[in-house]
Amino acid sequence: MSKIVFFCIPAHGHTNPTLEVVRELISRGHQVWYYSYNWLKDKIEETGATFISCDDYDMEQKLTPKEATRIGKDLAFSTKILVDTTLALDDKVCADMEQLKPDCIVADSMAVWGKAVAMKLGIPFVSSTTTFAFNQYSSKIMKKSFGELFGMLLSMPKITKDIKRLQDKGYPIKNILDILQNDNETNTIVYTSSQFQPCADTFSDKYAFVGPSIRPTTEKIDKTHEKLIYISMGTVNNDMMPLYKDCIKALTDTEYQVIMSVGNLVSLDDFGKLPDNISVFPQVDQIAVLKETDVFVSHCGMNSVNESLYFEVPLVMLPQTSEQSGVATRVSQVGAGIQLNKINAVAIKTAIELLLTDMSYKDNAKKISQGFKNCAGPKGAADKILQTCK
Ligand code: UDP
Repeated sequence: MSKIVFFCIPAHGHTNPTLEVVRELISRGHQVWYYSYNWLKDKIEETGATFISCDDYDMEQKLTPKEATRIGKDLAFSTKILVDTTLALDDKVCADMEQLKPDCIVADSMAVWGKAVAMKLGIPFVSSTTTFAFNQYSSKIMKKSFGELFGMLLSMPKITKDIKRLQDKGYPIKNILDILQNDNETNTIVYTSSQFQPCADTFSDKYAFVGPSIRPTTEKIDKTHEKLIYISMGTVNNDMMPLYKDCIKALTDTEYQVIMSVGNLVSLDDFGKLPDNISVFPQVDQIAVLKETDVFVSHCGMNSVNESLYFEVPLVMLPQTSEQSGVATRVSQVGAGIQLNKINAVAIKTAIELLLTDMSYKDNAKKISQGFKNCAGPKGAADKILQTCK
């Protein structure tokens, strides 16, 4: 029996794919401890893992809403927060690891404190990557997003200063790319297929492209019209009332059933009386909805795109961040979606109708889906972790 410790950042999109892997490990008789955040506790404990709270240490949780908007946009600021969090967790995590003596640490590629502590204590390590794997080649293809990041990370003196703070605490880290980049020496799980990953052949055999981790669902969506359109801007930046209103304008009293998941940041009352064919929810069982969906209007979070293509659903793409633009670029390259540059009711409706009539989009989504289904899935991810255990 092996002892495995997981670290993740506070985000559904980064946590969800790991949960099936944790379930798989536990079903094989291994023990799992999972460092995460109180609002994700129930979801994590349902897998059978032991939950450990990072809330008191995570510096991002202590930011004002205004400061929080700088995360992901201002790289020097983001690095400072990552380093502050790593140092705040240092004493507790090092003491915990001393006691637990894990056989392996698995950390989300953005929970850099997991990789940093594995490096510091010499514990076998697996990177869990819920976005595309990121190296100098894939960053070129995704040039709108990762390319910029690469250049900036290397050139920022403030970042170098923060790395020095880690080195002073015994972390053997030479530069920020040591902990942020996917390198060819680190065992890495990527939750997509090698067919969908850009430049997959530039990654070594340390990489396991295991495909999306689709959680089981028992819910069955009632399909009231022949075609179902699903709209969601994900779980993080979903405070987007003008966009939701455009979607409603585009789809009111059409022949389509429309389901919108809008999150908790907008009030359902502000939608007023909805037409009969449109339903709005703070959140839905996305897997259950996608099983019945014909077109997904999405922000292009990696999980939403993986899940959509798994169920052969082409996408209307409205990316909001550079990472989501990278994912949208890839979906356009494989011909499984249409990215909108201008967002208005007419553009949304036109794109939906094109996806419903030109079957090449659906056919291309099917090809990616087949590739996903040929992947090793959570079982393959568990195998990779167990092979890495000391
Ligand atoms: N999700 C869900 N119900 C909703 C909206 C989202 O279950 O109403 C899930 C979705 O299936 C996916 C995750 O939340 O697994 C969103 O992750 P993604 O990477 O797409 O976007 P993020 O929320 O991180 O921006």
